[in-house]
Amino acid sequence: MTGTRSVLLPPSADAVIIGAGIMGCSIAWHLSERGMRNIVVLERDLIGRGSTADAAGGIRSQFSTATNILLSQRSLEYWEHFEERFGVDINFRQQGYLFLLTTPEEVEVFQRNLALQQSLGVPVRWVSPQDIHELCPVLRLDDVLGGTFCPRDGWADTSTSTQGFAAAARRNGVRFIEHTAVTGIDVRNGRVQAVLTADARIATPLVISCAGPHSRAIGKMAGLEVPIDPYRRMSFVTGPYPRVPSHVPMTIEFARSLYFHPDGHGFLFGMSNQHEPTSENKTVDQEWMLTTIAALIDRAPAFEDASVLRGWAGFYEVTPDDNPLLGSYAELDGFVIAAGFSGHGFMQGPAVGLAVSELILDGTSHSIDVSAFRPSRFAEGSLLQEHNVI
Ligand SMILES: Cc1cc2nc3c(=O)[nH]c(=O)nc-3n(C[C@H](O)[C@H](O)[C@H](O)COP(=O)(O)OP(=O)(O)OC[C@H]3O[C@@H](n4cnc5c(N)ncnc54)[C@H](O)[C@@H]3O)c2cc1C
Repeated sequence: MTGTRSVLLPPSADAVIIGAGIMGCSIAWHLSERGMRNIVVLERDLIGRGSTADAAGGIRSQFSTATNILLSQRSLEYWEHFEERFGVDINFRQQGYLFLLTTPEEVEVFQRNLALQQSLGVPVRWVSPQDIHELCPVLRLDDVLGGTFCPRDGWADTSTSTQGFAAAARRNGVRFIEHTAVTGIDVRNGRVQAVLTADARIATPLVISCAGPHSRAIGKMAGLEVPIDPYRRMSFVTGPYPRVPSHVPMTIEFARSLYFHPDGHGFLFGMSNQHEPTSENKTVDQEWMLTTIAALIDRAPAFEDASVLRGWAGFYEVTPDDNPLLGSYAELDGFVIAAGFSGHGFMQGPAVGLAVSELILDGTSHSIDVSAFRPSRFAEGSLLQEHNVI
């Protein structure tokens, strides 16, 4: 449900976070853990019900951009110890990510990426078609030239992860206010003064925009051009299916953006329609579902008798270079953004929370240098294209 209801909002806050997805919740927890008080998170729906709810839960370090690799590796430290730290089982299955490559051009790019990933400490390796068969014995491999595999990658439950951060932030005193949409941002004299909802005004010196695919609209409220647009993506889940072993990794045919991984007693799968334009359409495209099923059976014929239990659509939050906007704006004091993860944001939520809390409290992110993702790069013409987008 989306909408606004009447709740008693505080007249002021030290920080207002817009959006309670993985980013808003992680940032709220990191700031409160560092001692910041009087933080309010405004969520127009329910905690974790935006793009985060629609993600496939994949967690990987196999990127082409160093900052993404570092964000993912730092996040892994949280994912691997989430239960000890937050008291919540996120069902992290570390069965690896296996990329299948079918063209010489992809092989060249992935080998370059592999060297970068290894130089940054990622335990990723090149795999031959024979190695691939051993990792995932159900694949058609006649056109596969090779691939990459990282056993430390995996997938986890997005809902319990987000709720874990939110509950811990609440214990630190953060206020989450659901069913409350931000409708405006009061900006005067080059700085943020307040956040507005339909029936309230919260005076604050700091707004943190974590609105995922809706970030362009939030930017507009503050007079900023934020190049993030929603693109529909779909995932589907099969019923229990023992014909395909449950130990297989997250398997991705890169050329078609086709992926599947074990999920419960069945499998979760999907394929990105690269030709679909930006839209707000969140219904399942039945035709694309059939195209996806055909591609899955073509790559892994053992799925031919699987039944599809359910499917859903959600939004990637896409920027012109498939990398996020992290940080503040020179032209507007008190506005920070953490959005535009272009389909790989869930996995990076923990480290983004750390980096953004450092940017806010220390003026620089010393744990991970995220300056390559500064919002001003678009105006400067310094785009940084991420290649490994699924
Ligand atoms: C099909 C699919 C598969 C995916 N698979 C993966 C994957 O395997 N791994 C991975 O890492 N990522 C994956 N992603 C991407 C991932 O879901 C996102 O990158 C991530 O969840 C972004 O988190 P967020 O907190 O920035 O945004 P969101 O989760 O969308 O949170 C933003 C919140 O802001 C709220 N909001 C918006 N406007 C307002 C307003 N005006 N006032 C108040 N609140 C507002 C929204 O209601 C929402 O809850 C996938 C996405 C899809 C759609």
